Amino acid sequence: MIGENHYLITNNALNEHLNGDALDFVASSNIDSDKIEEENKYNIFKPYNAPQHFNKTTKEEGLEFLENAKEVVIDDLIEASKTDDDDLYKQALYDFGRLSHCIQDFYSHTNWINQTGGIVRVWNEDIINPNIDNPDNLKTTDYSWFSQLLDKINPFFKMYAESHYDSLYEGSSKTSHYTMNKDEKGSLADVLFEKNEGVSGFNLALEDSMLHTEQKWEEVLDEAKDEITNEEYNNLIQNLEDFEIDEDEFDENKETYRKNFEEDMDELN
Ligand SMILES: [Zn+2]
Repeated sequence: MIGENHYLITNNALNEHLNGDALDFVASSNIDSDKIEEENKYNIFKPYNAPQHFNKTTKEEGLEFLENAKEVVIDDLIEASKTDDDDLYKQALYDFGRLSHCIQDFYSHTNWINQTGGIVRVWNEDIINPNIDNPDNLKTTDYSWFSQLLDKINPFFKMYAESHYDSLYEGSSKTSHYTMNKDEKGSLADVLFEKNEGVSGFNLALEDSMLHTEQKWEEVLDEAKDEITNEEYNNLIQNLEDFEIDEDEFDENKETYRKNFEEDMDELN
């Protein structure tokens, strides 16, 4: 998804769960996943975090990222619940932003939508997935900045994609990011999907992502609740309700949030 869609999805998914400041903060954290890649584009020491975006990766690696990120969020929520330390709440919400980015990119960077045939269905994150007929057919996009550019500027590529529609989204062959992504309305994959299925693939990705993001938030809160006392849980909810942040605070402290998140993720690997 492109930044403005991550923002839209995150806000819509969580607006019954978080106040305005917390929503903004989670959305900024979500979009930070792409900002990091942009900043490190030419830094060979910081390779592209493929599983974070379900790009140029496998479903197993993407799944591992999701599982680990969820654990990091829950651990930080638990730690926060035992204190009134604002920084711990900020870190937990930052972690959730990064987790939600991965969920949302799943729907735009895999053939999940193509396989569900125009019905809104949330991925249940099992490798063996009962939500689609043939789980082995689930594939992720192949991505490189250069190949994406080549596909885009090649005048015959669109024609090729149109005439090979079915085979592009079936089987285990690689499909380029340009042909697969439903990052925004009007992407090639969105246009092809609508032509074949009668509904916008991007709209489906948007709806699935919103449902999944909301479910994930409820899931992490529930799992944290199981591991803390009632008093701690009430404290957690109260602190989230009272969450406040100054406008510049995200940018000023993002290096710390990033570092803490990455360190916690590395520990789980
Ligand atoms: Zn992304």
